[in-house]
Amino acid sequence: MVVGVHRPTKLILDGQALAHNIAVSKAPFDENIDVFAVVKANAYGHGVAEIAKMAKAAGATGFAVALLDEGIELRELGYTDEPILVLGITPSEWAVDAAKYRISLTVGDLDWLQVAQPLLARAGINTPLRVHMGVDTGMGRIGVRTPADLVTASQYLRNHATEFEFEGMFTHFATADEENKDYFESQLGNWQAAINAVKPLPRFVHAANSAASLWRSKEVPTNVLRLGAAMYGFNPSGDVLPESRLQPVMSLTTEIAFVKQVAAGDKVSYGATYTATDEEWIATLPIGYADGFLRRMQGFHVLVNGEYADIVGRVTMDQTMIRLSAYQPVGTTVTIVGQDGDKSLTLSELANYAATIPYEIVTDFSTRIKREVK
Ligand SMILES: *Cc1c(COP(=O)(O)O)cnc(C)c1O
Repeated sequence: MVVGVHRPTKLILDGQALAHNIAVSKAPFDENIDVFAVVKANAYGHGVAEIAKMAKAAGATGFAVALLDEGIELRELGYTDEPILVLGITPSEWAVDAAKYRISLTVGDLDWLQVAQPLLARAGINTPLRVHMGVDTGMGRIGVRTPADLVTASQYLRNHATEFEFEGMFTHFATADEENKDYFESQLGNWQAAINAVKPLPRFVHAANSAASLWRSKEVPTNVLRLGAAMYGFNPSGDVLPESRLQPVMSLTTEIAFVKQVAAGDKVSYGATYTATDEEWIATLPIGYADGFLRRMQGFHVLVNGEYADIVGRVTMDQTMIRLSAYQPVGTTVTIVGQDGDKSLTLSELANYAATIPYEIVTDFSTRIKREVK
């Protein structure tokens, strides 16, 4: 695919910010704690090749992804030895592929292991499949739900050591990003019970996503940080818990592609929903909802020469119109996410306007936008 060669719209990625964010997230923990950079969904829309490289340079010791294919992509990018953990459930029919690539899979029940075991035995793999048992302490998504089931599964793994390596166990918190700690504490109790039940513990015993790393570091027993949001420098709670230590990795900029003056009464874009009230300068930007710039950003704003400019009329698939306070030529830089002069637009602000969370804003940015390393 030819991407971004003849188009000024680009995501700019700041490796220093990413390194700063990893350092900030690690600071309260043992300095040798493992950091798995969570690079699922094209590194949260940032661009997996660029982010994996930056994360590795900044001291990440492994990666976490959502899908086996995302893990294989990392192996093919040249990360041949780092632990790579698939966080979702992979159908057991692909256990052999995961073993071949030495990619660790999350398993949520004994059944999965019993189906995969003969497949692995028959394939005669030379390294056992690495397994992290998912422990559902209250997230209600995947994993064993009692210490007894965890013990049964871990014994099964250890009794089938030709096919499996019991490499890890982990849980995921549902509310580590909230002020109220009651539910978090009930999950923590369940997690402690799981840890107490397994002897010996596997190498990786982990529970910390970004929110738990940033705000619950004192309480969470973990020897791996699974860092997504915090590494990318956006607040995992939206703005529920204040967070000023992180630096955004991503900026999104484009350039004015077309500019014109309209008269009072003139309309802009599909549905003719915007009517100029005066003589106005309207600029057209080469970005639209096919790039992940949501249609509901209509009425929000961008930055041009350090000033806000409103998005007027409907956002279209590939183009968006803004109203300028004064004429600006074609080629003028427009900031959609990031800093311009003394003003900035954060992912949280875009998310709040669109009634969603920053995670959804970033993962929507499509591969049609070029990624540039600062
Ligand atoms: C996506 C994911 C993470 C990363 O979450 P952040 O909030 O972005 O840090 C960690 N653990 C699991 C199980 C996940 O699915």
